[in-house]
Amino acid sequence: WSADTIAVVTGANRGIGFEIARQLAFHGLTVVLTSRDTTAGEETTKTLQEEGLKVVFHQLDILNHESIDSFCAWVNEKYGGIDILVNNAGISHNTGSDNSVEFAEKVINTNYVGTKNMIKASLPLMKPSAEGARIVNVSSRLGRLNGRRNRIGDLGLREKLEDVELLSEDLIDGTMNKFLEEVKDGSWISGGWPQNNTDYSLSKLAVNGYTRVMGRILSERDDSEKIYISCCCPGWVKTAMTGWAGQTSPEEGADTAVWLALIRDQSVNGKFFAERREINF
Ligand code: NDP
Repeated sequence: WSADTIAVVTGANRGIGFEIARQLAFHGLTVVLTSRDTTAGEETTKTLQEEGLKVVFHQLDILNHESIDSFCAWVNEKYGGIDILVNNAGISHNTGSDNSVEFAEKVINTNYVGTKNMIKASLPLMKPSAEGARIVNVSSRLGRLNGRRNRIGDLGLREKLEDVELLSEDLIDGTMNKFLEEVKDGSWISGGWPQNNTDYSLSKLAVNGYTRVMGRILSERDDSEKIYISCCCPGWVKTAMTGWAGQTSPEEGADTAVWLALIRDQSVNGKFFAERREINF
């Protein structure tokens, strides 16, 4: 990797995203630190530039199509594309013991739909190379299918969501829409969706599923234009999202995403990782 390697990190003005940007830049890459808030992003970028790192800022709100489009046009014009995309931006409205779904639509739209839109817009810009361009999605173990009795099982969806050959974007979207309909008519509570941080867990289940779908699709590309996509859980990290609770520092939380962004191993494609090891979906 070199300063000609262009890495883009979403939601990088603070928390785990900031650390991912810092660590990637520390490896000598050019990092495009993006943030929905221009002031916050510019200030953060300055602190990294003062460390001598090659970091530039651009505004990017993954909920806003115009923002995504203007970012993509800019990165294409300035750098001719992207080598590494780390989709880190995300929100949660349940940091305590409550399990409100008041913001369910926004949580799913940001964590899943925003991430998906960013991937779709970036794919044509990913630089083809024999080593492969990389997409890393910062997800969560809360989105795992295993070991949980929930509506996904009741609806007969689990089998389909578990089988990558049956899994599709439509199936994932349909599952999210079903949940959001039940939120609207108040029936979700009796449904048995994931018990812990329900809307957030489902948003990350969708990110994980979409990673698998894209992994399957991207694996069919020619060797000369490979793109590898993976997702990871950073652990329970002390950031604003957790109210600075958690077991690990943002530095440690960033580690697996950075490792996946830089590893020269195509076998990571379509898989889920934590602490640099593959884990089950
Ligand atoms: P933070 O709340 O500290 O950071 C989240 C970042 O995402 C902020 O920069 C925020 O911007 C940005 N963001 C939110 N919405 C958008 C948007 N629409 N467009 C662009 N950026 C946006 O949280 P963390 O650092 O903890 O979380 C980073 C990722 O790690 C998330 O995807 C999260 O789900 C995941 N994760 C975190 C865990 C933890 O324990 N902390 C555990 C498992 C996963 P702004 O500052 O403007 O709000």
